[in-house]
Amino acid sequence: MAQRYVRLQKTTGKLCYGLLQLDRQVQVLDAPPWLSGQPTDEVLAAQEYHLLAPCAPSKIIAVGRNYAQHAAELGNEVPKQPLLFLKPPTTVIAPGAIVYYPPQSNRVDYEGELALVIGDRCTDCTPEQAQAKIWGYTIANDVTARDLQKTDGQWTRAKGFDTFCPLGPWIVRELNPEARLQTFLNDTPKPAQSAIISEMVYSPGVLVSYISQVMTLLPGDVVLTGTPEGVGELQVGDRVRIEIEGIGSLENTVASKLP
Ligand code: MG
Repeated sequence: MAQRYVRLQKTTGKLCYGLLQLDRQVQVLDAPPWLSGQPTDEVLAAQEYHLLAPCAPSKIIAVGRNYAQHAAELGNEVPKQPLLFLKPPTTVIAPGAIVYYPPQSNRVDYEGELALVIGDRCTDCTPEQAQAKIWGYTIANDVTARDLQKTDGQWTRAKGFDTFCPLGPWIVRELNPEARLQTFLNDTPKPAQSAIISEMVYSPGVLVSYISQVMTLLPGDVVLTGTPEGVGELQVGDRVRIEIEGIGSLENTVASKLP
């Protein structure tokens, strides 16, 4: 199995990065792995930590309509260039954490996506250079208030609520381009979304290159590569699980926001 890189909070409160072993023990690293973090002698048992999102990005750059069939299901064309938007870092939540359904919306959707984690400062890169700046891969849910996305005309509010970016559970260094992404709701065995990663219109290297011509990407930043067809509605109480072959699965539940 591929090495799994995690970020966690110890029961003492301290945050750190680590390597997750098959027995759920974690070998602690002395820095983020993309900043040359090295294994220390410290090993944590499963009850001595809980997982956080696997990185703490300065920004999350997301891409709209990057799978042709998803663009079509919402009545849109595939854009002639990548369509970018930002999600604030405060959207990020850990695997297992709660997505809060905002009172301003009556229609909140899941969007299962492959997330790229940037390992090195990235400005004005070619696609080949950009590919080398992608340190690893994880899973994201680009949660979207679909009604507000339509009424606002731009997407800041629809995509930007606190808890609207579940991320994790860990990062792997390599990904098979033929890996399948699937999204499952509650106990329904049939996936709501199911697509091969390589069906995306603009590849990871092209996306990171395109973004790097606008803004500098920093180590730990995250790029969401778009969702395939099959997006749908979440209800309070739902469990949503996104799986990508070769990475793992990211599961979160939906709850109403407490007053
Ligand atoms: Mg999306």
